[in-house]
Amino acid sequence: MSLPTIKRVLLKLSGEVLMGNQQFGIDPEFVAELAKEVKAAKETGLEVCLVIGGGNIFRGMAGAAKGMDRAQADYMGMLATVMNALAMQNALEQLGVQTRVQSAIEMDKVCEPVIRRRAERHLEKGRVVIFAAGVGAPYFTTDSGAALRAAEMKCDALLKGTSVDGVYDSDPKHNPDAVRFETVTYDRVLADNLKVMDASAVALCRDNKIPIVVFSIREKGNLARVLAGEGVQTIVQSS
Ligand code: UDP
Repeated sequence: MSLPTIKRVLLKLSGEVLMGNQQFGIDPEFVAELAKEVKAAKETGLEVCLVIGGGNIFRGMAGAAKGMDRAQADYMGMLATVMNALAMQNALEQLGVQTRVQSAIEMDKVCEPVIRRRAERHLEKGRVVIFAAGVGAPYFTTDSGAALRAAEMKCDALLKGTSVDGVYDSDPKHNPDAVRFETVTYDRVLADNLKVMDASAVALCRDNKIPIVVFSIREKGNLARVLAGEGVQTIVQSS
């Protein structure tokens, strides 16, 4: 199964992939490897938007589970995504890839605010645009932020690079017989509560007809293979 021709993509990376083999935080060597993959994708002529989660540093739900106020904890999570965005910007620029970080929570000393038309110009000029701080509101995730930016930037696909190589009918970590889908519909993902992205992100992609491609970013060269329609992946689409 391959994707329709894509010119502009949004690549969503879970924060945890920035940890490399660590248990927490950012492994600069692994971020440098990820940046090489992004650079290679860009060099195929694609326009690349990036969204990076914050789970390697802080998740609001985890804070709330330990008694914190959920909204307060979520703001901390959003700030974690800005740190990850800056780490990726640094790694990309060390490879000579021009980037801009746009944050949904304004912090003009370190990055730009999210301005769609300005982001358009950056992409036209060949820059990678990294969108940070999700949608800028608590009770959301960076998956929803990714779907929102993919819709407003009119991306042809949302690529979700994570630790798992696709979408399974049950959790492959617990069920050795779990089967990976080649393709699966948005409606099935939502009805069966399959672990892809949160429901609001999936619904936003469905309503805007943005295919979601789930693949493992941990294997070297996988992003390029997925973009070439090869490699192991699951595509979430209408039918
Ligand atoms: N977050 C939020 N609103 C957003 C995006 C993120 O409140 O629009 C917070 C939320 O607490 C979340 C954390 O930021 O747990 C880190 O993001 P996420 O869990 O999506 O990161 P990932 O799982 O992709 O690493």
